[in-house]
Amino acid sequence: MGVMVALLRGMVIKTANKDSIEEAAQILRDGGLVGMPTETVYGLAANAFDGQAVARIFEAKGRPSFNPLIVHVLDLAAAGVLVEVDDRAEALADRFWPGPLTMILPRKAGTDISELVSAGLPTLAVRAPRHKVTQALIRAAGVPLAAPSANRSGSLSPTSPIHVADSLGENVDLILAAGPSEVGLESTVIDLSSNVAVILRPGAVTPEEISAVLGVEVLVETGVSDAPKSPGLVLKHYAPDTPVRLNAVDVGDGEALLGFGSLKFMGQKSGGAAADMDESRLRNLSEDGDLHEAAAHLFAMLKELDRPEHSAIAVMAIPDEGLGIAINDRLMRAASGSQGQDD
Ligand code: AMP
Ligand code: MG
Repeated sequence: MGVMVALLRGMVIKTANKDSIEEAAQILRDGGLVGMPTETVYGLAANAFDGQAVARIFEAKGRPSFNPLIVHVLDLAAAGVLVEVDDRAEALADRFWPGPLTMILPRKAGTDISELVSAGLPTLAVRAPRHKVTQALIRAAGVPLAAPSANRSGSLSPTSPIHVADSLGENVDLILAAGPSEVGLESTVIDLSSNVAVILRPGAVTPEEISAVLGVEVLVETGVSDAPKSPGLVLKHYAPDTPVRLNAVDVGDGEALLGFGSLKFMGQKSGGAAADMDESRLRNLSEDGDLHEAAAHLFAMLKELDRPEHSAIAVMAIPDEGLGIAINDRLMRAASGSQGQDD
């Protein structure tokens, strides 16, 4: 088989084989992004443990908001390390994995999956793809892979490596080419995090097939995906219980501070430097003012400061550019108490 190496606008497409898969795995371990074939559509993959790598996914897609991503694993045993697997999940995995079914399950306490992957939610979406190249890549990388579809936000999901190249350009470090996607349709997303199983996104596995396995009729709730918004959208976003105050230039008495960049000119209203505040009240998204680092820390730090003893979480201004747009989107929702919807 001939090896295709195409250079498009500085970005590399390589035919998937042992060498290119190993190269892609190394890129993933180093925090880079790989366009990967799966049986559904091409995905934009990053190491799901690496928050800054996951932040790059949102940047590359130009997503104006943080949507939770699907974590790709080899099998149910691998998923079981990350999420709480129940009988329903076991039965569905038994029938449809590896394959185009994504299950949303409670995150396991203490899992190292980046909070950005699940956008701060207590649940995590997991899927075991059946494409041999995806499986080889997950195995070679040795880590679960967070991946949404490999297209710019708002455009169609890519079913060929050229689509990925056209849509993402230089924002992806390597694209593994393995021909057109077999299914060409996104995975079915089923929410199993409560007692009632609900299909959040219709896909390759049908509600009838799922109902047959579960022995109950599953509900179908559409409108969560990149599809046009519909009223009554079901995706709930994480938002802290503690009020959030944006563009803070100082810190009030009972407030916690979520900083960004240098705290040098940040003071407490009652006197004293913000930098001297008790550790329990102070987090900095990125001392260097790095938006990747800030995105990677956002949900974890919000949660750490979201405590009843704090009257509010004061948040320093974050530049409204690049990843800052998605960070500000989430902070504004938190400040307005809106659970809102997005793409
Ligand atoms: P994509 O990343 O483009 O394949 O889309 C993934 C889909 O799964 C989106 O519709 C997400 O909103 C949905 N999703 C992923 N994780 C969760 C979760 N924890 N809760 C609810 N929906 C999720
Ligand atoms: Mg998508």
